[in-house]
Amino acid sequence: MKPFTYERPESAADAVRAVATKPGAKFIAGGTNLLDLMKLEVETPTHLVDVNRLPLGEVADTSDGGLRIGALVRNSDLAAHPRVRRDYGVLSRALLAGASGQLRNKATTAGNLLQRTRCYYFYDVTKPCNKRDPGSGCSAIGGFNRIHAILGGSDDCIATHPSDMAVAMRALDARVETIRPDGSAETVPLAEFYRLPGSTPSEENALRPGQMIVAVTLPPPPAGVQIYRKVRDRASYAFALVSVAAIVQTVGGRMRSARLAFGGVAPKPWRVPAAEVVLDGAPAGTPAFGAAADAALQGGRGCGHNDFKLPLLKRTLTAVLATATRTT
Ligand code: SF4
Repeated sequence: MKPFTYERPESAADAVRAVATKPGAKFIAGGTNLLDLMKLEVETPTHLVDVNRLPLGEVADTSDGGLRIGALVRNSDLAAHPRVRRDYGVLSRALLAGASGQLRNKATTAGNLLQRTRCYYFYDVTKPCNKRDPGSGCSAIGGFNRIHAILGGSDDCIATHPSDMAVAMRALDARVETIRPDGSAETVPLAEFYRLPGSTPSEENALRPGQMIVAVTLPPPPAGVQIYRKVRDRASYAFALVSVAAIVQTVGGRMRSARLAFGGVAPKPWRVPAAEVVLDGAPAGTPAFGAAADAALQGGRGCGHNDFKLPLLKRTLTAVLATATRTT
């Protein structure tokens, strides 16, 4: 591990100022991803700004009936929160599908959003990787790419975003509250927070240097059945090969509304409005579910070892919709 300096600021304003003014500085909270990356020298911050003592650990009702989740709320606490369990079940289940109990006890809401891809080549500093070392190439394209993206990738990177929580938040239309180094606030819809890799895979989100997440807000809970289903290689402590977050409402055997987000298949939590439109007003059943899956997979393609994700996503979505509409 490379040497680094460390400080623990007393306020969010001090924290963003510290990161913005010190080249190579980074925020650290739970550290469940960053410390691994530092040990491997994938990340080599010169200075760590520990935000753990900032007052960002509250979950609070909002005036419109939604929920405001502080950036430092631990994943375990959020999953167990009574309002999350009651009104945002898809989020509670997605959180509990992630990592392990020990990691969830440390990992924070903001850190979960900002965790890096689990592409094996990203973690191997002896291999070319455009995300870690821009311009060096992509070892996964033409290499072993079983866990990689079938949607949204580019000729420079096909890494997937690893979060379960973010997939549920995408289905819930979450918004990310931040503060900039000058102290001003900026709120970004999660739909616009992540970037696709294009020709600059190292640029992953909308945060500018020194900008810090302070909370995530959820709108009032949507009507309907909420499901999070994760398909993975082991029953726990494994990242999604495919996951589906679904919020589905039916009336009289017809689909009234559907929100669908997908994990494990793209560089960001993936949502396809066309797949939701297909379901709107359709009779709940296999033809509509299959059409929605086809729409969700529009433009999808495998890179060899990950070809299986195309039919797997279709089968998983179809099964989730059947469960949600009780047509199985
Ligand atoms: Fe790096 Fe992305 Fe290629 Fe993985 S898929 S090796 S993260 S550029």
